[in-house]
Amino acid sequence: MKKRLLKILIPICCVLLIGGIVGGYVWYNLTYHPSKWLAEGDDAVPEKDFTEILEDLEGKPMDNTWQEALPQTEVYNMIKAHFESPLPEGKTVKKAIVIGYDGCRVDLFQLLPTAKKSAINTLLEDGGHAIFTYAGGVPYSESPESVTQATSTAPGWCSMLTGVLADKHGITDNDIVKEIEPKTLILSLVEDGIVDKSAFYVSWDGHFSRKNATYYGEKQYAKQNGVNAKFCRAFFDPGTKCNILSDLKKEDCSDFIFSTLEYTDHQGHDTGFTPTNPKYVSAFRDAESTGKDIIDAIKARKTYDSEDWLILITTDHGGNGGGHGGPTLWERMTFIVSNKDILK
Ligand SMILES: [Zn+2]
Repeated sequence: MKKRLLKILIPICCVLLIGGIVGGYVWYNLTYHPSKWLAEGDDAVPEKDFTEILEDLEGKPMDNTWQEALPQTEVYNMIKAHFESPLPEGKTVKKAIVIGYDGCRVDLFQLLPTAKKSAINTLLEDGGHAIFTYAGGVPYSESPESVTQATSTAPGWCSMLTGVLADKHGITDNDIVKEIEPKTLILSLVEDGIVDKSAFYVSWDGHFSRKNATYYGEKQYAKQNGVNAKFCRAFFDPGTKCNILSDLKKEDCSDFIFSTLEYTDHQGHDTGFTPTNPKYVSAFRDAESTGKDIIDAIKARKTYDSEDWLILITTDHGGNGGGHGGPTLWERMTFIVSNKDILK
């Protein structure tokens, strides 16, 4: 009798326990929790003209004016230039990482001075630089006819990873599988023998985890052709962070890491892309805290002193109201922050 009871009770307890853990994890990640890194005033950012904020950022921290913004393909150029330049004295290997904050409006930078924990401030304090860049293909025209690509996620990251715009890489929107050519840096740096291995860390399934995902073809290609490129998706941003940190803990960590965090994009879609929205600010603080943990992990590497790291923080697009994709300045204006000089 006891045995029979146990036979029934044990599976029920197991199901309840697993259900509780999975349910709790999903609930925690899908509901709003204010960032513990929120600063005083984050819940009451005053409404201000967008271009006025951009002008306030000119000189500090931005090295250029918003009218001088460079196309977002500059990310590609910077990574290529980094790996192609000679090793500085005392360094034995080159490494690079892109920490992408999806849908992060550049006017959030007005909140950098009050940050308690900030990846961007860390790079700038370490002698880094920041510039205005833009998404959407051509500079500043708000006329839809002259915008060569949508200010959407897949076109934006794809332009940074291939160095060309949608007319050449074919990614005019999300849910389009990119042809193998032009290859992204994830593949080309390894195939060209510039690095030994690369890794792509995300939580958004639209990058390479669905059959209609942008890099679904590249992921298959890497597998079929033995390219040492890892395509790794977590369910949520904390998982992306864990995956990056565990890579960085390895003595022979990936030489090129490309990652995106969804905090700002998800909250922007849910509640509005604007610094006057405390939930959007909170998401920015979370992204910044994660970015800082990643930078700290790089600096904690035993071989850090002999490694020449390029660390970039950037975004794929801004946002307008609860969305993006269009040609407004709010959606088009983006940024690059680097631990190195940018405009040299
Ligand atoms: Zn996006």
